[in-house]
Amino acid sequence: MSKIYFIPGSQDLYGEECLQQVAADCREMTAFLNEKIGDVAEIVLLPTVETAQICVEDMKKVMDDDDCAGVITWMHTFSPAKMWIKGLQLLQKPLLHLHTQANEKLPYDKIDMDFMNLNQAAHGDREYGFILKKLGIRHQVVAGFYQHEDVIRQIRQFAEVANAIAFSKNVTVATFGNNMRDVAVTDGNRLECQIKYGWEVKYWGIGEIAERAKDAAPELVDEKMAEYESKYTMATDDTDAVRVQARYEVAFDQFIAENGISAFTDNFQDLHGLEQLPGIAAQNLMAKGIGFGPEGDYKISAFSAVLMKMAEKRAGATGFIEDYTYDLTPGAELELASHMLEVPASFALNKPEIQVHPLGIGGKADPARLVFDGVTGDGIQVTLIDLGDHFRIICADIELVKQPEPMPNLPVARIMYRHKPNFAIGTGAWCYAGGAHHSVVSTALTREDIALFAKLTDTELVVIGDDTTMADLNRM
Ligand code: MN
Repeated sequence: MSKIYFIPGSQDLYGEECLQQVAADCREMTAFLNEKIGDVAEIVLLPTVETAQICVEDMKKVMDDDDCAGVITWMHTFSPAKMWIKGLQLLQKPLLHLHTQANEKLPYDKIDMDFMNLNQAAHGDREYGFILKKLGIRHQVVAGFYQHEDVIRQIRQFAEVANAIAFSKNVTVATFGNNMRDVAVTDGNRLECQIKYGWEVKYWGIGEIAERAKDAAPELVDEKMAEYESKYTMATDDTDAVRVQARYEVAFDQFIAENGISAFTDNFQDLHGLEQLPGIAAQNLMAKGIGFGPEGDYKISAFSAVLMKMAEKRAGATGFIEDYTYDLTPGAELELASHMLEVPASFALNKPEIQVHPLGIGGKADPARLVFDGVTGDGIQVTLIDLGDHFRIICADIELVKQPEPMPNLPVARIMYRHKPNFAIGTGAWCYAGGAHHSVVSTALTREDIALFAKLTDTELVVIGDDTTMADLNRM
């Protein structure tokens, strides 16, 4: 369980009684927040900032604790902000400025100057907001009474995004082979990815997996087959082909565990030593939160792992997808999204079928894969591109829909969605923005989550949705 430290602000001019009340209110507040969002992160109260020295000590604790994903600050009283400069300069983790009060309503009949001195977030939080602005510290402000549902929702969201950012800082992507020859958008600056998001992109030859798959212990392969048979419907007689995938997944499992891997890529142009392109193996791993990018796409692999982490406590599906083909019926346009094989099992509407079919390209044996129709509901499609001098996140609102008719000859898993506000603007905007054909689709996350991630990681964000107009397209 990660931790979010809660640091209240005050000063030592108000006297002991006032400071004791501040601490008591903050204990009550953190206990309340733990009840509400303790499943996402433990909220831990640190000593009230009464002096610059306490602020430095608090921020050192934040930075020294590997389990701490972020910080919530709140000025219960006035807290002169010069006291915060040295401490804030140490802070390199997500920051939530909670603009709230211990009291919801004003006690009109009792209010006196003691009450005014004790409860002056309206005053103190403005002083504090100024210094955050002056120091250029990226942060989120949540304003409102801390017990209100919408405020709790936003604090929870902050904790989820902070957890994802903490996770991101420790992502290692294993790339098996390089980027697909000639493809542009999957390429980019790996070094910048590491500096900005923490992703260590490390190369291995696919022989690493081929060797392990060859040597996979039969009992582990049996276990994996039993897992497949319990989760999926075996719709093929060619169980040997399925067993090949089970061996691959055993190999990936071992490799991932030994090397601390959170995400990986492969490339169908470089499968030396493998009989099949990893199909079920990749699909099943993605459903367990392992990031995946085909064709050497390390960015979408790492990004999908980070977004799956962000969504881990929510209902809904999150994972890698590729834009494929359209139904362009006027006014009822739909996109059919899929991949050669590797669509995460988490997108399945019903129990997936294990099928074995030839693959048109790659020149390998017929691979076993999971085939299913996709989940439905409101969602987002989000991608990350490298523009050389900066990264850009593009996030589009979509509606995932039931496929209008069966597609009995299509031997891959698929999802379908409607673009917003309509096909012309939604897909036009994506093209203008330079959006990739690889993305992450999620029915668990919202544009607001992605916007918070972009803000806290200082990444350019382009959003597309019902509020996008034709006039916006030339500004993408
Ligand atoms: Mn692709």
